[in-house]
Amino acid sequence: MKTKGTVYLICFNKPYRHAKHYLGFSENLDKRITDHLCGMGARLMEVVTQAGIEWKVARTWPGADRSFERRLKNGKNAPQICPICSGKKALNRARENH
Ligand SMILES: [Zn+2]
Repeated sequence: MKTKGTVYLICFNKPYRHAKHYLGFSENLDKRITDHLCGMGARLMEVVTQAGIEWKVARTWPGADRSFERRLKNGKNAPQICPICSGKKALNRARENH
């Protein structure tokens, strides 16, 4: 049985190099977000926090697994599925289909 958790999309208020989003997976989202606030848990979130870039959790997919995270990552379309960048139409994209 696959581990279920929450896939989440973080949107930066300004780009860090080429990155404006971070897509991650956690079985304990609250703890994971707290880690990110401290600049821990992921290298990208560490450098973004050090650069003083503010960010928000734009979207979450509860009950997802790592293969769903991988599919979203492989899609390389974070701006299109981010409600902060694309508004409501983002929510019609990348619906859960796992
Ligand atoms: Zn965004």
